[in-house]
Amino acid sequence: MSNQRFKAIENSHIRSSVEVEEAGRRSEYFGVNVFNEERMLQYLTKEAYDRVKAAVVSGAKIDRKVADQVAEGMKTWAISMGATHYTHWFQPLTGSTAEKHDAFFDFSPEGRLMEKFGGGQLVQQESDASSFPNGGIRNTFEARGYTAWDPTSPAFLYGTTLCIPTVFVAYTGEALDNKAPLLRALGAVDDAATAVAKYFDKNVSKVYATLGWEQEYFLIDKSLALSRPDISLTGRTLIGHSAAKGQQLDDHYFGVIPGRVLNFMKDLENECTKLGIPVKTRHNEVAPNQFELAPIFEETNLAVDHNLLLMDVMEKIADKHHFKVLFHEKPFAGINGSGKHNNWSLSTDTGVNLLSPGSTPMKNLQFLTFFVNTIKAVDNYEELLRSSIASASNDHRLGANEAPPAILSIFIGEQLNEVLNELEGVSKGKLSPEEKTELKLNVVGKIPEILLDNTDRNRTSPFAFTGNKFEMRGVGSKANCAKPMTVLNTIMAKQLLSFKKEVDQLVDKKGLKKDEAIFNVLREYIKTCKRIRFEGDGYSEAWENEAKSRGLSNNKNTPQALRVLTSKESLALFKSMNVMSEIEVRVRQEVELEEYVSHIQIEGRVFTELAYGYVIPAAVAYQNKLIKNVMGLKEVYGAAHKKMSESQLDIVERISEHIRDIKIKTDAMVEERKKANNMVDINKKALAYCDHVRPYFDQIRYHCDKLEQLIGNEYWPLSKYRELLFIK
Ligand code: ADP
Ligand code: MG
Repeated sequence: MSNQRFKAIENSHIRSSVEVEEAGRRSEYFGVNVFNEERMLQYLTKEAYDRVKAAVVSGAKIDRKVADQVAEGMKTWAISMGATHYTHWFQPLTGSTAEKHDAFFDFSPEGRLMEKFGGGQLVQQESDASSFPNGGIRNTFEARGYTAWDPTSPAFLYGTTLCIPTVFVAYTGEALDNKAPLLRALGAVDDAATAVAKYFDKNVSKVYATLGWEQEYFLIDKSLALSRPDISLTGRTLIGHSAAKGQQLDDHYFGVIPGRVLNFMKDLENECTKLGIPVKTRHNEVAPNQFELAPIFEETNLAVDHNLLLMDVMEKIADKHHFKVLFHEKPFAGINGSGKHNNWSLSTDTGVNLLSPGSTPMKNLQFLTFFVNTIKAVDNYEELLRSSIASASNDHRLGANEAPPAILSIFIGEQLNEVLNELEGVSKGKLSPEEKTELKLNVVGKIPEILLDNTDRNRTSPFAFTGNKFEMRGVGSKANCAKPMTVLNTIMAKQLLSFKKEVDQLVDKKGLKKDEAIFNVLREYIKTCKRIRFEGDGYSEAWENEAKSRGLSNNKNTPQALRVLTSKESLALFKSMNVMSEIEVRVRQEVELEEYVSHIQIEGRVFTELAYGYVIPAAVAYQNKLIKNVMGLKEVYGAAHKKMSESQLDIVERISEHIRDIKIKTDAMVEERKKANNMVDINKKALAYCDHVRPYFDQIRYHCDKLEQLIGNEYWPLSKYRELLFIK
């Protein structure tokens, strides 16, 4: 019998907190490890500084001479801070980040030792990372991808390594990462939104998409987590009976943060602050041992980098505090899973949030313009947006037993619904002076400046307007936000371009005034995209039926959800917005399907290991104990033992039944896996894993969980839910 579980419990009990002090006033040490503006001013020539700024604001190219100057400044700063290495930091299609460190240390041509880092090393690096998923774009024999500096996200010092955010592209030009398409989408939405924002303010010359993510996660004692092969290899518990107590008492949510966890959080936040990640909020979440961290929102590209960096930092700091952090969307059955709400808006370089209602009718018309266009964009491409958050692990939330549903709909709240309903009645063509006044005073003019309190009530909506931003709630806790942000900003760019064209046509051809034209176009949008608006309970079955009749997609699993990526419309969209070429989209679809397959495959293998290596042996050991007991009773009591042995024998039999079922189901699952593995077409393979392998998981689990309850506690080899979730 394995005693790993008991050793782990013992370890977890004798731990003492690693005490951490708050590092002082955040504003004083925020970004000390970042090569930010302040550092650039200190370490760069005026010319280099201006060029980097221009590159950030307008995408201007940085020539080699300037790159050399920037590299020199960065190196001097980094070495003064104790750096020994540098790395291009990038986001391959695996969803996380990658790095390859090089020492600054080198030989000069004369053979002398020197610290070397020039513009060449800053700007571009051959990664020879031929093993990253590339969906066949780069065949391994010509593994020629390179990473290229992204000056819009500042370099930072992590440990003793200078990290330079980069894109990862093939020599043939295709993006091999998640950052390059995101940057293109952000460029597209900047152009389109700036043109529309100029209707309202000629001084706007740039629009930034903003992102504020909210990261949910679980913290589990490290020894307990490591005692379970499923957590170690898949990030979740594949089996495990619910603890007698779960989240039903709501006594964890927003409760006092446990001491050991608080120390972890302080440590984490100190480190994040130094790295320039503006962390702000920390609290307990709904499920036991579940927590959340949220920063102040930032420009989207930077926010995405910061979220990826955060997840990396979290794992390291957790380790120091003897925790394992779980980012999986559903680590435990029966209690809440984790997500990563993406709060999104658009902001001008004049400092205006375009999704924030204002104090004048004109500002509100601007608000309504961007608001209605977002609704229209999501309505047009709801299925594509759904595809951007699809993954094997997120399938446990979307469309499973948990919020939010796989159906995309938009919640805007009562007040804004009223406003849209009124706008629907706007006359066609030119407006009479009376109607204009009425609109400005009583419809647009009445939008309250602060909507926050009224709009955030519906927690079941996957895409909710929350006062001055939209909140996309289906994003997985493990996900790279770049994916949904690429799609959202692309569809918004496309939508705003169409809008501008329509408005301009009404002005040029029909002689309408600008505001009349805007009202006219918005009215038509409001009429045509009603199906996406839904204020009711997103989890209800009634909504599923209703959504179906409205023609909204309801793709409950990843293979289904990913299909739309390569539809004619999606390919045309990405191409026309210069976000991704057809091959780049196809590659992503293939890579994600492959990832899906690998995920389910690994889970399937771990199931086999758990069944044969842990559960059945434990059940048999306990069964033997009972049988020995019965034999002993017989020896002592003779015929009288029968009555005394009844219950033991009943348990013995029930154990046998469960063992048999586990064996049958596990073997059948392995057979299905074999069949699936022989499939060449990745679409068919993913569907086979989804429809024929995965359904066995719940069945095997059912019997394992029954056994967990049946057999003696000391015989059970895997840390139980009550240990994983309630040891703090
Ligand atoms: P909550 O949703 O918990 O009530 P808030 O609405 O204040 O809290 O903010 C939630 C998240 O939304 C935070 O991470 C915040 O940074 C982000 N957020 C706020 N305003 C914006 C915005 N204009 N653009 C993007 N994210 C935003
Ligand atoms: Mg939120």
